[in-house]
Amino acid sequence: MSTEISIEFFPPQTAEGADKLRATYRRLAALKPAFFSVTYGAGGSTRERTFATVKEIAAAGLNAAPHLSCIGATRDSIREILNDYAGAGIGRIVALRGDLPSGAGAAGEFRYANELVEFIRAETGERFHIEVAAYPEWHPQARSPKDDLLAFKRKADAGANSAITQYFYNVDAYLNFVDAARKLGVNIPIVPGIMPIGSFSKLARFSDACGAEIPRWMRKTFESYGDDTDSIRAFGLDVVTHLCEKLIAEGVPGLHFYSMNMAGPTSEICRRLGLDG
Ligand code: FAD
Repeated sequence: MSTEISIEFFPPQTAEGADKLRATYRRLAALKPAFFSVTYGAGGSTRERTFATVKEIAAAGLNAAPHLSCIGATRDSIREILNDYAGAGIGRIVALRGDLPSGAGAAGEFRYANELVEFIRAETGERFHIEVAAYPEWHPQARSPKDDLLAFKRKADAGANSAITQYFYNVDAYLNFVDAARKLGVNIPIVPGIMPIGSFSKLARFSDACGAEIPRWMRKTFESYGDDTDSIRAFGLDVVTHLCEKLIAEGVPGLHFYSMNMAGPTSEICRRLGLDG
């Protein structure tokens, strides 16, 4: 049986970005992903653009899932967004706490993602399939690995149907996380998040911020290529394809690609994996 895939976008900021994303999702649709998800900016900053992108993808006959973060939000504003999505026929939501934009003060009426999951279930019953985030290498603000696992369990207990992980390049971190979650009685699918590597410097910056580890052997190899973008791309494709192969051999429930709105890397990795239909 072929491994199911899903693909993540961010909402474009310009008309040019929207055209580019249109071409991207049309091309990636050939991979028959279970859904395309669209991120949501800190503190609701992309509310309209996320909604517009999700509606456009859905209108093209593809499954679209908005991300929704609750930090800084009120119950009324979340209720309104849920009603909009239900009205637009959307069936899946990626429910997150999110991060407050720097300098923003008000924390709003939700503190953690489990409260959002609880609220969505209380307001809309089983209307939405709810995805939540998981962190195999632990969330950067977690007090301890055990606390982070318990926070993950609270999201599942609140009614999440499945989880997508932060990206990682160490298969053991993922396997350890899944084992630990199962021991706590968390049985929802935990789909690994896969970050294709286009630019190493961007990845390094991003990884520092979100707490994902780039193993030394990878970092050293990337650094040795300097500005040789062809070698960086080729090595990145090899590493990520091999990571996916190992995860598929472990029987993962799916692969979620952080596409960065580019079709090329995700298409090429899926082609190499034989997941291109
Ligand atoms: P939570 O599950 O609430 O956890 C946040 C932190 O709080 C963790 O450290 C946890 O251990 C801790 N915690 C939880 N409960 C408690 C408690 N009761 N007491 C003390 N500590 C607690 N960000 C965006 O802005 N937009 C997006 O679209 C987006 N999409 C994402 C998609 C995926 C698949 C992933 C993995 C991340 C995404 N993020 C996104 C990033 C995410 O919003 C941040 O990582 C955020 O800091 C945490 O969100 P969460 O839903 O995981 O929070």
